[in-house]
Amino acid sequence: ALTQKLEAVFKKLRGKGKLSEADVKQAMREVKLALLEADVNYKVVKDFIQKVTERAVGQEVLESLTPAQQVIKIVNDELTKLMGPKEARLNISPSKVNVVMMVGLQGSGKTTTSGKLGLYLSKKGKRPLLVAADIYRPAAIKQLQVVGEKIGLPVFTMGEQNPVNISKAAVEYASRHNNDVVIIDTAGRLHVDDELMQELINIKDAVNPDEILLVVDSMTGQDAVNVAETFHNKLQLTGLILTKLDGDTRGGAALSIKAVTGCPIKFVGMGEKLTDLEPFYPERMASRILGMGDVLSLIEKATAAIDQNKARELEEKIRKEEFTLDDFLEQLKQVRKMGSLDQILSMIPGLSPQKLQGVEFNEKELVHIEAIINSMTKEERMNPSIINGSRRRRIAMGSGTSVQDVNRLLKQFEQTKKMVKQLSELEKGRKKGRFKL
Ligand code: GDP
Ligand code: MG
Repeated sequence: ALTQKLEAVFKKLRGKGKLSEADVKQAMREVKLALLEADVNYKVVKDFIQKVTERAVGQEVLESLTPAQQVIKIVNDELTKLMGPKEARLNISPSKVNVVMMVGLQGSGKTTTSGKLGLYLSKKGKRPLLVAADIYRPAAIKQLQVVGEKIGLPVFTMGEQNPVNISKAAVEYASRHNNDVVIIDTAGRLHVDDELMQELINIKDAVNPDEILLVVDSMTGQDAVNVAETFHNKLQLTGLILTKLDGDTRGGAALSIKAVTGCPIKFVGMGEKLTDLEPFYPERMASRILGMGDVLSLIEKATAAIDQNKARELEEKIRKEEFTLDDFLEQLKQVRKMGSLDQILSMIPGLSPQKLQGVEFNEKELVHIEAIINSMTKEERMNPSIINGSRRRRIAMGSGTSVQDVNRLLKQFEQTKKMVKQLSELEKGRKKGRFKL
């Protein structure tokens, strides 16, 4: 919803051509409202709007040839700064036993995220050990064991002994068994309480973690931000992991949490599956919020999940703006291999599920699209502009679909292409130190 609102504001701005200071201020009022509705912290919104307005009403912007684009670029920049400004990496060193302590409220996703992080690190060549230090819920130990089994990682348990002793013993165990990252899944409570905090402080003092990562549920909005502040005060967190960003969150937590706590977001959880963890890139998140889709994340996902060469080819084509219907089809096929359709679709520019509302873009639709593209000649795929009425009828017949289906596909493709082009220009501009949105 935030994305659509911002898109609407910027569309209006773009339609104006020459901008006055009043135009910018009006747009900023609308941006402000959209952010507040998305549950972004009030003070953060105020500072943000002030910074953007200051930069945007300058003569350079208003008198430039593309004032609306300049304003959007400034918003994009400031959003990136707000959430970053840069990606924050995990502090994991080679040739030592690294200790990562996972903390957070009950249900925030600690156990799941411990598994996700373990899997992520093992893909990077690490040998993680998961540690069951939540002794209060009987099912918690078992849950971590199940997670470990799924991803083929060892799980250290000592039943319901003192979590401090468990953590210490786990670190010793790790150094004897050649595990180089110890991921401690600690207990949570429904609310922050002193007893829990003291236990976490004791664990921290005992094992001196390299990372203390707070797992927060992004669906809880400003509560997530408050929780993060409290944990940070007590434990001096080294990073945040925002979970459930795949859900119906309004985005407020992602936008405010770094600004309020000063603690960087290191990863985001994008689903229930153990592969649904992504490093957090502020710049990409900003573009995603602004509705530009996220080709880069998509490419990264493709690289991880599928044929490396194909992913590189796709990236190359996007950069060279030679993105054809064949590539579009290839991309959709890869989407299917990658699992969660909604999630991937939300990253393809111009193909966001919101935009496709009413189009029922489901598995069946994909089969349709594949059939339609397969019914096209090579020439048509390379150069869709030649597809006139009679060709459309032929393609529809050949693929067992309707002319409307063909039209819709061509429109989706054009949209995607346009966005891809904008994005690759943005990339080029960035390399040259110049932006163009
Ligand atoms: P813990 O109590 O903090 O250990 O939380 P759990 O790891 O048990 O997770 C609580 C619930 O949140 C489980 O149903 C998880 O599947 C779910 N969950 C965790 N991370 C994500 C996420 O990124 N997306 C979604 N949709 N669900 C998640
Ligand atoms: Mg748990």
